[in-house]
Amino acid sequence: MKFPKEINAYCPKCKKHTKHKVKAVSKGRNRSMAWGNRQHTRILRGYGGKVAGEKTVKKQGKRQRVMLVCSVCKASWQRVIRGRTREKIEIKTG
Ligand SMILES: [Zn+2]
Repeated sequence: MKFPKEINAYCPKCKKHTKHKVKAVSKGRNRSMAWGNRQHTRILRGYGGKVAGEKTVKKQGKRQRVMLVCSVCKASWQRVIRGRTREKIEIKTG
C-alpha cells in the first residue's frame, strides 16, 4: 500500500490544517530487563493466580503507522492508517 510523502492534516498545536511530512515509524527494541518484562516472567513461574502467557491466537496483519511532522511548528505524532492490514506501508518517493 502506497502512501503520499506529504499530506494535509490537522495540527493540534497550530489548531488548523497544515502540510505534514510523512515518515516511517521505527519500532524500538524490546528491553528484556524492563520492569514489566521481569514481572511477567516472575508471574509465569506459577505464583499469583491465573495469567496470560503465550498468545494462542495470532492477529491477521498489523496496524501500519506513519509519523506526521508539521511543516510549520515541527511537532510530530503517529497516525494509524486503516485497521489491520497484511500489506506493509510504502512512502512514495518523488
Ligand atoms: Zn503545527
